[in-house]
Amino acid sequence: MAQLSGWGRFPVVEGESLSFSDLGHLGRLIEAGEGIPYGLGRSYGDSALAKRCFDSRRFDRFLAFDEASGMLCAQAGVSLAEILRITIPRGWFLPVTPGTAFVTLGGAVASDVHGKNHHLEGCFCDHVSELSLMTASGEILRCGPSENTALFRASCGGMGLTGVIVDVTLRMKPIRGAWIDETLLRIDNLGELFARFEEHAKATYSVAWIDCLAKGDALGRSLLMVGEHAQEGGLSLAPQGRLKVPMDAPGFALNHFTVAAFNTLYYQRVRRKLTQHRVHYAPYFYPLDAVGEWNRLYGKRGFLQYQCVIPKAAGLEGMRGILGAIADSGLASFLAVLKAFGKGNDNLLSFPMEGYTLALDFAMHPRLLPLLDRLDAMVLDHGGRIYLTKDARMSPETFRRGYPRLDEFLEVRAAHGADRRFHSLQSRRLEIP
Ligand SMILES: Cc1cc2nc3c(=O)[nH]c(=O)nc-3n(C[C@H](O)[C@H](O)[C@H](O)COP(=O)(O)OP(=O)(O)OC[C@H]3O[C@@H](n4cnc5c(N)ncnc54)[C@H](O)[C@@H]3O)c2cc1C
Repeated sequence: MAQLSGWGRFPVVEGESLSFSDLGHLGRLIEAGEGIPYGLGRSYGDSALAKRCFDSRRFDRFLAFDEASGMLCAQAGVSLAEILRITIPRGWFLPVTPGTAFVTLGGAVASDVHGKNHHLEGCFCDHVSELSLMTASGEILRCGPSENTALFRASCGGMGLTGVIVDVTLRMKPIRGAWIDETLLRIDNLGELFARFEEHAKATYSVAWIDCLAKGDALGRSLLMVGEHAQEGGLSLAPQGRLKVPMDAPGFALNHFTVAAFNTLYYQRVRRKLTQHRVHYAPYFYPLDAVGEWNRLYGKRGFLQYQCVIPKAAGLEGMRGILGAIADSGLASFLAVLKAFGKGNDNLLSFPMEGYTLALDFAMHPRLLPLLDRLDAMVLDHGGRIYLTKDARMSPETFRRGYPRLDEFLEVRAAHGADRRFHSLQSRRLEIP
């Protein structure tokens, strides 16, 4: 038994990490009892935690890569960082990438992750042509948009609750340079931010960093970062060096005052309304990957990440209410990121819907859980939902209301016997049968 936790280091539970490197071994682990698949543990809360975790990190072989078409097939334990190491020098990039490259293919599919290009290019699984899944009986089923479709739609975004994904076939995206041409816009308030998102709706990548302590006329003051793949500059990989946080920071390291000081400095370092420069893909997409174990900055008590989406119709006013409630609470979020989403897909538990998504990191605090409950209510009133892969605390009721296709998901799960074999702490908390 070991102490297991997600990236937020809350909750911490006792469990066994059961590593496998071949299908026979995985089959025996599943046969022996209930558990949940585990990738690189970059989900923040309890979605990859259970008494028994099927750890896929040693199941990490590349199976095929066609340099002419960009089709790549690999075992589920291969990380996005490893994929980029192979494909970038050959002129191919991930079609969709989250804000860290230290996630496995299996984890990216199970959360149906999104990136800064959702408004144009959708979720990760929209680029998956096929995957194989080991079900509760140990059988391997191939599924995709036109084969075992119901199981595919349930497994993409299904948080490991339909079975263990064993391999994935992905369509990569052609690039001519490993660099991004970035435009940085200094934004004074939320109204201006929404207007700029609309104005840059055709840009490939866009994301805003928000100073969520700013209030009143400055509510929503932010930096909007818009990016395009550079057409030249070479296909060089990122340098390998990484800094590491050597120990847990004291619990007070990230508090209202330190975050306020950081936010002011960060915002004011950008003097001009608009700046343009060329940046390497690694600091552009994965700024935090350069600092190993940065989650220790939050101290031993850990932290919660909160990510919600509200539909476009609720738009500016909805987001104003949510950001206003956060600013009034005085609870500081070190990272606050806003993105625009395009249309959602057909995957049954996929998080994105057309609208705006806000992601925040909060250090543990006695007033935090009541604040997040209040935010949940506002999000649901606007017809939105909370992202499962970031969650460690939402109620079963909030989950049900946010995911209207849950019953279809449960039907597929039961039809494949997954309800008897695959459970996480999160699925128990959310009362998923
Ligand atoms: C710094 C940072 C930035 C991030 N940015 C983004 C972002 O921009 N967009 C976004 O969408 N997400 C983002 N995330 C979240 C992250 O992409 C997801 O949580 C992803 O699922 C983590 O993958 P993992 O391999 O670490 O999986 P884990 O955290 O180990 O598991 C996550 C879920 O996937 C399931 N799973 C894992 N492997 C398999 C498998 N082989 N078969 C079936 N199920 C499996 C687990 O059971 C669990 O439910 C970010 C996380 C961090 C730490």
